[in-house]
Amino acid sequence: MECIFCQIVAGKVPSEILYQDEKVIAFRDINPQAPVHLIIIPKNHIPSLTHLSEAQLPIIGRMVNAANELAKKEGISESGYRLAINCGKEGGQLVPHLHMHLLGGKKLSDELG
Ligand code: AMP
Ligand code: ZN
Repeated sequence: MECIFCQIVAGKVPSEILYQDEKVIAFRDINPQAPVHLIIIPKNHIPSLTHLSEAQLPIIGRMVNAANELAKKEGISESGYRLAINCGKEGGQLVPHLHMHLLGGKKLSDELG
């Protein structure tokens, strides 16, 4: 098992787990780009957005729901936050396990690319 995020799910790589349910897990990004920078992932290994099957689409809603709950817990629901999913090389995806970034706690860049 080489995937770093699968290893986090398996408890083989330490991380600060902030949320967990039967399908989704979330932890703090190791190299934060904002005061709040969390990573939300499906427990199952899905390589990227482009690999999502129709049957797997509900996982995105579960990830968004986890992100919204975490934004409340982190105190950034009112001030605002950004959810981002990078996909593929030009999309800036470095870890090949589908993940959503939750960013907030400061005024984020107006530029998306
Ligand atoms: P991306 O560029 O969208 O693939 O984002 C991957 C993110 O995962 C980066 O923000 C990394 O800092 C983060 N990351 C990589 N390894 C770990 C780890 N072991 N624990 C927490 N975050 C990690
Ligand atoms: Zn994986």
